[in-house]
Amino acid sequence: MAIDPRRIREKMVHDQIEVRGITDENVLRAMRSVPRHLFVDEALQAQAYEDHPLPIGHGQTISQPYIVALMSSILDIKPGMKVLEIGTGSGYQAAVLAEMGADVFTVERVKPLYQKARKLFSDLKYHYIKTKLDDGTMGWPEKGPFDRVLVTAGGPSVPKPLIEQLADPGILVIPVGDTRRSQALVKLTLKDGDIKRENMGSVAFVDLVGKFGW
Ligand code: SAH
Repeated sequence: MAIDPRRIREKMVHDQIEVRGITDENVLRAMRSVPRHLFVDEALQAQAYEDHPLPIGHGQTISQPYIVALMSSILDIKPGMKVLEIGTGSGYQAAVLAEMGADVFTVERVKPLYQKARKLFSDLKYHYIKTKLDDGTMGWPEKGPFDRVLVTAGGPSVPKPLIEQLADPGILVIPVGDTRRSQALVKLTLKDGDIKRENMGSVAFVDLVGKFGW
């Protein structure tokens, strides 16, 4: 029996994302179009649209679809915005942001993941996603400031360079926790030089490793 991934994505977006209250049409549209099954190993493709994270090798994971949707909607992305993502991983979140019209810059520290994501971006014609192999807690100073910054790994605090590279107005989203097992999803909003900090719920991400990480 042939499986139509578009139909499965429609169902994923309805059953896992819309019912949990995400209404940003740009997010929903992007998640209906990005072929998530191509961002995981062939052996896991049948599970790619299930309601949980999946391993991508090197001790890392591709986030649960709902978490990708939640972070993308908190960021309130408008087409043309410059977005910095730390933790390319499989490349899925970056592809969703690109599909939303963002100008995406993504940094990964694990070389094989970086290489694999780059190849996938090229195969799927996401030529405009800019990638870098580096410690993302340092940001990407030459390319900043960024309208939005998203960290997709959990750290002990918000890395200072990322705050410095945030545009005003700007929004930064990062999982922060003082244990490595669970974190608060923190939203920082910078406006007229003032920073507002909000806790958007609890999440469990892999470690943010680096100078301003664990
Ligand atoms: N956004 C990814 C999620 C990947 S999991 C996706 O959609 O698949 C988190 C990723 O953050 C891992 O690949 C890990 O290697 C990476 N990471 C952890 N610390 C990092 C750092 N300091 N700089 C860049 N990447 C980092």
